[in-house]
Amino acid sequence: MKAITVMPGTPASVQLDERPEPAADGQSLLVEALALGICGTDREIVSGAYGWPPPGRQRLVLGHESLGRVLEAPAGSGFTPGDHVVGIVRRKDPVPCPACAAGEWDMCRNGQYTERGIKALDGYGAERYRLEIDYAVKVDRGLGLLGVLLEPATILAKAWDHIDRIGHRTKSWSPRSVLVTGAGPVGLLAALLGHQRGHEIHVLDLAESGPKPALVRDLAGTYHAHRLPDDLAPDIVIECTGALTVVADVMRQASVDGVVCLTGVSSSGHPLPFDFGSFNRNMVLGNVVTFGTVNANKRHYEMGAEALARADRGWLSRMITRVVPLERWQEAFQGRPEDIKVVLQFAEAA
Ligand code: BGC
Repeated sequence: MKAITVMPGTPASVQLDERPEPAADGQSLLVEALALGICGTDREIVSGAYGWPPPGRQRLVLGHESLGRVLEAPAGSGFTPGDHVVGIVRRKDPVPCPACAAGEWDMCRNGQYTERGIKALDGYGAERYRLEIDYAVKVDRGLGLLGVLLEPATILAKAWDHIDRIGHRTKSWSPRSVLVTGAGPVGLLAALLGHQRGHEIHVLDLAESGPKPALVRDLAGTYHAHRLPDDLAPDIVIECTGALTVVADVMRQASVDGVVCLTGVSSSGHPLPFDFGSFNRNMVLGNVVTFGTVNANKRHYEMGAEALARADRGWLSRMITRVVPLERWQEAFQGRPEDIKVVLQFAEAA
């Protein structure tokens, strides 16, 4: 069978390989890949800047944003052939740390977690793969290809879950406005979940044309190309670019009692002039919380699935701007300026 593999740490090593069929183990699902979402992390792994192969091997099967169809399921597993499933990305560390022991592997404390398609475990970018029952999440078949948006949606389900918990440190918390920076898939899903919560949405991005402004407007949101009005003081900020100047700006922009959630990973080694004194002063005198978030646990997959089920399917489908067939897989890794979400299709999802 075919699989997309890469040698982490070695630039341009990605290739379409022949791999043996996954071995039967009697306890996991055998899944046929339907689609794989491609994100910044995949491109970083392909560039050689991130990722770890499984122990004792050089190549890693890439892919963590999955959508698959169950081919075989053990009796009593709760799954049946034909079900559409998404695989959870992270596995708990072997110790396990207190967070992993509580099923919150997204909060792993010792860094020994593994991640399919990213860290020491083969990913979902193969025609067929095995998926442990506890790490499989059913998605509505009616979503078709859109089910591939579940994994990125879980990142925002977690972000919103933590924003809520932080916000409720004060009894009177009733946020109104939300600023999302970046209108890529993560930013748009952040905006969608904020809209579903009834908030007033503002999205900042560099694009002046293309589908992004209309996608934001269709959430009754305000799209800001390049710059924000000076008087915007959002109750919640969700930063989804990882761009240093944007991160520095939003940390200054939050309102009193505000919550700033950072989801974008930046590269290190680019010192930036930054007024730490005024940042600290604003944080303290304004009771502002700035926090980072990564990954998601099973509860967030359930929350993400619910959010996708409630969303307008036409709107979701406009987020997928390119569907690349497996034969032309290389194109999926070549970013284009008009891209929002690029999906590599393994088989028909209908
Ligand atoms: C994935 C997360 C993962 C993170 C870091 C992201 O692209 O969506 O699940 O934890 O990369 O490896």
